[in-house]
Amino acid sequence: MTSVSGIMPTGRLTLGNHLGALRRFTDPHGFYFVANLHAMTMRHVPRRLAELTRETATLMLAAGSPEGTVFVQSEVPAHVQLGYLLECTSYVGELSRMIQYKEKGRDKPMTRVSLFTYPCLMAADILLYGTDRVPVGDDQDQHVELARDVAIRFNREYGETFVVPELAKAAYATRIKDLQTPTAKMSKSDVDDAIGTIRLLDPPDVIRRQVMKAVTDSENVVRYDPSGKPGVTNLLEILAACTDGDPEELAKGYQGYGELKTDVADAVLSVIEPLQRQYAVLASDPATVDAMLAAGRDRAIEASAPLLRSATTAMGLGTGR
Ligand code: ATP
Ligand code: MG
Repeated sequence: MTSVSGIMPTGRLTLGNHLGALRRFTDPHGFYFVANLHAMTMRHVPRRLAELTRETATLMLAAGSPEGTVFVQSEVPAHVQLGYLLECTSYVGELSRMIQYKEKGRDKPMTRVSLFTYPCLMAADILLYGTDRVPVGDDQDQHVELARDVAIRFNREYGETFVVPELAKAAYATRIKDLQTPTAKMSKSDVDDAIGTIRLLDPPDVIRRQVMKAVTDSENVVRYDPSGKPGVTNLLEILAACTDGDPEELAKGYQGYGELKTDVADAVLSVIEPLQRQYAVLASDPATVDAMLAAGRDRAIEASAPLLRSATTAMGLGTGR
């Protein structure tokens, strides 16, 4: 019963990344990685990629269980190796239906090939450790579904090899919305200074101001209503996720928006400030971070070897002896 999950170094991490993924990276037997190979499917700047890889890895170490395995994806070659094998078991039809490709790449000649094939790499990320749980936000449903399909097909065609994983959904906060556009997901690749995006490493007073400026509506009645009141509902979901409450129950305790926003800001900071303190300790000690990532890499290399070997042999690679 272990879990696997990754975060792309495509921007400074957000509250959405924390509530949907990072803070659930607590399984001491889990595998958690900076998905830097996935950050190259669109035009990217190498130096920024390297900097964000470091920042993301340090945040993952700061948030996770001290025994958990945290590593950088590109340092464990088995991901790419199994990714290729899975490209050889996937179909153009199913990859053409993936949302990212449809929205950002289809019919554009300068689309990187990797924007089409990355779901196979992601299936490899998920299947490589024989884990059965994938703690991710709900924007990842389609990817996990593909990994399940690929695993089932591989097992059928080449013999029982992979554990078919389950999506591990949080009760709330599976899709935190932008505070200024509460119909859109909060994403780390949003422009850097977007005031609707809460960055985990921003100063607390900046974060508090962002919450106080969140878009609501003119009714001034606190009610949980995802389609009618997306702004207020998002604030209630954030509050629920940060206090382990129920958003509909929490709504009953408020007379107006000012009071709600103050409590949301307090709750968000009560989650973010300890993380920032832990981050600061690690960031001031680069040698320790290097050692933790090297240990994580070695554990991931060792743990992924058996399944890579089984899949390779099952497909008939090798010299046939
Ligand atoms: P990008 O804009 O580059 O896609 P992202 O913020 O969507 O960045 P990902 O690296 O795609 O982040 O995803 C990392 C993890 O964070 C995934 O498990 C994803 O489901 C989760 N996640 C991302 N955004 C949110 C959100 N707004 N609410 C909850 N979970 C989220
Ligand atoms: Mg994303």
